[in-house]
Amino acid sequence: MPATVMARAGSKKIWGKGDIVLVIQAHPDDAEYYVGGTIARMVEEGCVVNYATVTDGSKGTFDVNVDPKVLSETRRREQRAAADVLGVKDLFFLGYPDGDLYPSLELRGRLIEIIRTVKPKIVMTLDAWLPYEIHPDHRVTGLMASEATVFAGMPNFYKEQILSGIEAHKPDFILLFATDSPNLFIDIAKHVDKKAEAIMRHESQLSLSFPVDLTKKGLEEVKKELVRNLRRKNRKKGRCVEPMRMFRVGAGHFIRE
Ligand SMILES: [Zn+2]
Repeated sequence: MPATVMARAGSKKIWGKGDIVLVIQAHPDDAEYYVGGTIARMVEEGCVVNYATVTDGSKGTFDVNVDPKVLSETRRREQRAAADVLGVKDLFFLGYPDGDLYPSLELRGRLIEIIRTVKPKIVMTLDAWLPYEIHPDHRVTGLMASEATVFAGMPNFYKEQILSGIEAHKPDFILLFATDSPNLFIDIAKHVDKKAEAIMRHESQLSLSFPVDLTKKGLEEVKKELVRNLRRKNRKKGRCVEPMRMFRVGAGHFIRE
């Protein structure tokens, strides 16, 4: 097996050198938390990874005095810094208000246009079918990104894009993260440190994710604790993994094998 083709589901190759990946996330930092190790590994193995971030992250604070515009700009900067740690290429920010996301044909069309422009082999997004997931941004991003993935290859959907010169494009695979029905486990043992480093770049979010006592001890201590947690929690049969639900993409449907 060539070194560049290392991730497989069963006996099938998922990615290799030169493959394009598009991660569609609800908030700046979802990708790093759920699949940061996989993204680091994909980049190392020659993939070109891009992000689309649907909301502006402007409510991600307990401080009522924070200007939402300022926070959303901070979070864009943090997302770029985290993406740079992992080697991610282009970032698309759709700018929908944090926490208020509901399904719309407009959002679906914007995601289809990004898929048709980036032309990914693999789309990665949140699992819209995670039981008891109450955050609308996670549910709706997962649903709209899934619909966009199965319709982007069909030229009569959002035909105006096709008439303006954008080609239809069907991704081969969708990988759903934050899932409780995984069928793909990506070994990230060698990429835990990089994942933690990327999560740490979302500095404005650290006080929401870690106890105050720990954050007072400084960034190095937070990172050590994060690495310990990632190694302890992400385990399957002794391996350190990130779980995902994988489907092949058909015309208008996921292919259920
Ligand atoms: Zn989120």
